[in-house]
Amino acid sequence: QADIALYQAKDSGRNNYVFYESEMSNRVKHEVQILSELNQAISEKSFQIFYQPKIDTLSERVVGLEALIRWFPQSEQAQSMSSPAVFIPIAESRGLIREITLWQVGQLVQDIQTLQENGFHDRVSINISGELLSHIENLVEFLEVIEHSELSFEQLDFEITETAYSKMSASVSAILESAQSNGLALSIDDFGTGYSSLISLRQFQANHLKIDKAFIDEIHRKKDDFAIVSATILMAHGLGKKVIAEGVETEQQFRALRRLKCDFIQGYYFAKPMPLQEICEFIK
Ligand code: C2E
Ligand code: MG
Ligand code: MG
Ligand code: MG
Repeated sequence: QADIALYQAKDSGRNNYVFYESEMSNRVKHEVQILSELNQAISEKSFQIFYQPKIDTLSERVVGLEALIRWFPQSEQAQSMSSPAVFIPIAESRGLIREITLWQVGQLVQDIQTLQENGFHDRVSINISGELLSHIENLVEFLEVIEHSELSFEQLDFEITETAYSKMSASVSAILESAQSNGLALSIDDFGTGYSSLISLRQFQANHLKIDKAFIDEIHRKKDDFAIVSATILMAHGLGKKVIAEGVETEQQFRALRRLKCDFIQGYYFAKPMPLQEICEFIK
């Protein structure tokens, strides 16, 4: 279609329009290329899971792990799209999340075995796409796969963004709460970046709240950010939730958070996300 438009545009002799259309055409080709590689990655199961530790602020011990998907594509074009922040939304819009999520469960079953052998007995968090939550049959299938696997809800924590929470239907919410009563932990991810932070705090019975990196970056030198994080932690504690700070990169940030009684820390200051073997070493 873009090529037809290009042909018509040339005829009309409007150069700007022609340029715009050929850009479009390139972008379409680019996306087609990436999608075919993404599909290939799904069918060949060539993703990997990296794990980033969650650290207890006081004891500085590992108290949990977050599973973060990694994709190492072949072509240079797709390499620019290899960050999950980029390809997960593409996968969401193309209905590929179900496949990816099911692959992850299979991988987790194996990895948790190894983690336990290396002395890890806490929860692994997985990021749950809003797309999965908007297809109730996919969510139910996913939970059933977990139940029928060697995994148990006591070993898992679902990280759900505020935005995904706010779009969730009552029936999906009820399904998650029932899994929660069977041991699943729920976390509000990227807290503070959605449109309804306070409403989501009141409405969702999450166990943990993850303060977005945007509020942590300058917490040690910006009075306003310090005040926002301080109030958020007090509020969360008042509601019986534990708080995790995301994206902690420096000792100053860590100290500020310890002063504010933030429960847990995640960030490069302690550890980057790493492959299974490395995380086992780290835990030891
Ligand atoms: P998120 O769940 O909020 O994950 C935190 C992101 O911050 C991760 O990026 C992590 O690698 C990065 N990070 C952690 N500590 C630091 C730090 O100190 N400094 C900086 N600059 N970054 C830090 P990543 O792995 O690229 O993932 C980006 C987003 O993609 C995630 O945000 C999550 O929304 C999504 N995502 C990742 N893996 C999955 C997955 O398996 N399934 C789904 N549905 N989404 C995923
Ligand atoms: Mg997360
Ligand atoms: Mg986050
Ligand atoms: Mg995020």
